[in-house]
Amino acid sequence: QRKFFVGGNWKMNGNKSSIDGIIKFLNEGGTNPNTEVVCGPPMIYLDYVRQKLDKKIGVAAQNCYKVEKGAFTGEISPAMIKDMGLNWVILGHSERRHVFGESDQLIGEKVAHALAAGLHLIPCVGEKLEEREGGKTEEVVFRQMKAIADAVSDWSRVVIAYEPVWAIGTGKTASPEQAQDVHAAIRKWLEGNVSADVAKSTRILYGGIRYMCVVFLPLYIVHLIHPTGSVTAKNCKELAKKPDIDGFLVGGASLKPEFIDIINARL
Ligand code: 13P
Repeated sequence: QRKFFVGGNWKMNGNKSSIDGIIKFLNEGGTNPNTEVVCGPPMIYLDYVRQKLDKKIGVAAQNCYKVEKGAFTGEISPAMIKDMGLNWVILGHSERRHVFGESDQLIGEKVAHALAAGLHLIPCVGEKLEEREGGKTEEVVFRQMKAIADAVSDWSRVVIAYEPVWAIGTGKTASPEQAQDVHAAIRKWLEGNVSADVAKSTRILYGGIRYMCVVFLPLYIVHLIHPTGSVTAKNCKELAKKPDIDGFLVGGASLKPEFIDIINARL
């Protein structure tokens, strides 16, 4: 009943030439009738990607502001996203929360406005390492869920992404079981705080681990420390078997041809 969903969050990566490469592998193999696929390029490339990408693949902005227009230098509005022929926006990503200081309240306001403007949303939740180690995972995730849920007027246009924000260097990894546990807890929260129908029909994506210290360590060392962190072609099949994992929000691997394997994780 919940269609498998795979989102690619390109973050602040790519240029016209590398994006042409991504569009090529997506147009050649990135559609699957059993998976809804949405890509999130950097804002400046949204139109470029929308024009070139197979229309079966959705395009998402990675962020937007909470009002339609005005003196908000550097921001874009949901109305502008729609005007460019796009239907999706990612909101409250961990990097928006922790690098740019977005609060639950602001994210709630963005959720309300983006839905009112007609967009489909991928709001994100997730705990930091110290919160998980302090036994606060559910408290944090439920607080973030409440700020989002209070602002949702139409759940059929919302796909939740759970992205644990764990720092590297600790030897900690999220096993598929740990991810499943939090997904099940979020679904239960939806049942208790929204409705049984919404809990049953809302897709909850898994979004891997954020490598907060990546600037200080070469990637191969990061991967030695954190072998199962982000969603990859290698671990996606195991994760996709879990009953409450309805897809992924993929970062780094969404820039590479292995993204096609992730789209097909449930085959
Ligand atoms: P990575 O897959 O690069 O760890 O990123 C996950 C993420 O933040 C997706 O939004």
